[in-house]
Amino acid sequence: MLKIEDLVVEVEGRTILNRISLEIPEGETHILFGPNGSGKSTLMMTIMGFSGYQVKSGHIWFKGEDITRMPIHERARLGIGVAFQRPPAINGLKTRDVVSLCAGQRSANVEELAQKANFTDFLDRDLNLNFSGGEMKRSEMLQLMAQGPDLVLLDEPESGVDLENVVLLGEIINELLGRGVRQREKESPIAHREKKSKSALVITHTGHILNYITADKGHVLYNGVLCCARNAREILQWIREYGYEECFRCAS
Ligand code: ADP
Ligand code: MG
Ligand code: MG
Repeated sequence: MLKIEDLVVEVEGRTILNRISLEIPEGETHILFGPNGSGKSTLMMTIMGFSGYQVKSGHIWFKGEDITRMPIHERARLGIGVAFQRPPAINGLKTRDVVSLCAGQRSANVEELAQKANFTDFLDRDLNLNFSGGEMKRSEMLQLMAQGPDLVLLDEPESGVDLENVVLLGEIINELLGRGVRQREKESPIAHREKKSKSALVITHTGHILNYITADKGHVLYNGVLCCARNAREILQWIREYGYEECFRCAS
């Protein structure tokens, strides 16, 4: 689904990512760990194609297509979607209209999607304006549900979300990724088996989200260098026991 090879990325003339290689197969959820400032968000923004993130060398492939120089809207149309760590609030723009916009040509039922994201009460409020941390994240997830991307990039989805709401957020993320309990109950076993789960890259600083979603693999980003592709829970254990620097030294 996603393949990154030897990627070097500069922001404002400074090298932030150094020779990153990463592969996320179809249907897999990968976790990206790393301390503050290690370049996690930069990697996500570069995959999505935001301006200001200059690819100096290396390649990004998505569904077999080289998207390294592709504009952001084309990447979105191909099936990449992001949820930001701190999405902006927009005065006068109704959440309902943003969700419809995300759906584009897909005739999404906004009310139905909002029910899945537990967000019906917020459709007629201005986007993210005075939303709590948890509400902001649910608004991001609802927009992604409407867009329906095949690769979902989530930047620290649990940050600013209290313990009670993180359980709910976990459920919504599973629903979004096609691994929801509710989805499984509704579908016949055959339909469920044939329906592909989405691929995901989930950035986490604390690792809390791992209690609520199933991860196939984890990676550590340290000073712009990626290392340590292995079981996500094992990595989290290492980080808690030895710290990021030691993990990085052992893995590289
Ligand atoms: P993380 O998400 O792991 O906390 P970031 O990717 O946000 O890290 O940042 C990595 C480094 O890149 C930091 O040193 C940060 O200051 C720098 N950086 C990120 N975005 C910009 C920007 N727009 N302008 C200048 N420096 C930036
Ligand atoms: Mg950070
Ligand atoms: Mg970040």
